[in-house]
Amino acid sequence: YVSVTQLTKRFGENTVFEDIDFTIEQGEFVTLLGPSGCGKSTLLRSLAGLNPVDSGVIAVDGEDITHQAPQQRGIGMVFQSYALFPNMTVFDNIAFGLKMKKLAADQIATDVAKVIALVDLQGKEQHYPHQLSGGQRQRVALARALVVRPRILLLDEPLSALDAKIRKRLRQQIRDIQKELNLTTVFVTHDQEEAMTMSDRIFLMNKGEIVQQGSPESIYTQPANEFVAGFMGHYN
Ligand code: ATP
Ligand code: MG
Repeated sequence: YVSVTQLTKRFGENTVFEDIDFTIEQGEFVTLLGPSGCGKSTLLRSLAGLNPVDSGVIAVDGEDITHQAPQQRGIGMVFQSYALFPNMTVFDNIAFGLKMKKLAADQIATDVAKVIALVDLQGKEQHYPHQLSGGQRQRVALARALVVRPRILLLDEPLSALDAKIRKRLRQQIRDIQKELNLTTVFVTHDQEEAMTMSDRIFLMNKGEIVQQGSPESIYTQPANEFVAGFMGHYN
């Protein structure tokens, strides 16, 4: 589980968020939802250790990780753009993190085969990224995040560059994999429908604050204020 206490992040004069508190249960799928610029990516990158915070504590399973390097945190992350290595095959892209950990070749082959099956990319092992569709590339990125067996999965608008049909299919696929692995997941989107259909809980953000958190149903039917009502009202 994740516990965040009084977390504050500034870029110079710009306070992105201040004294944010929340907890996420083991295996829970939480979506950070909110308008552009409200601080979703900054919060996610802070959890990943890619943005040093100014104050506050981030704990995972009771361990304070606030000042750990990104690669120590046991976190897998997928971004909006694919960021695969263009000159490496699918297999090598996924194996990269395991090679860095200096695992034996047969162990790497076994682990990569498992996640390739999980994301349904069998047969594509020797393809290069430019030979794949957008959805397939995002599944490679997901496999790469999963292969190191993260304690937490962080997804920053991983579907937003994809067309509507593939996006819907991948939503379901990500959710199925996340449930199967009982993986604590934080998913960022500004798409209300995506948040409504995928989440155990939604954290609705505005201007660096979590203005409401709750189940999709409760946020939709019992908005805490006009901002929430307005933002969720566009969902149809
Ligand atoms: P979007 O939906 O457009 O991705 P977001 O909710 O993810 O928006 P952030 O990217 O977290 O928003 O940005 C929040 C605020 O932090 C913005 O005001 C942005 O200008 C600022 N910001 C983000 N990254 C940096 C940075 N590296 N340096 C300075 N300011 C930054
Ligand atoms: Mg963002």
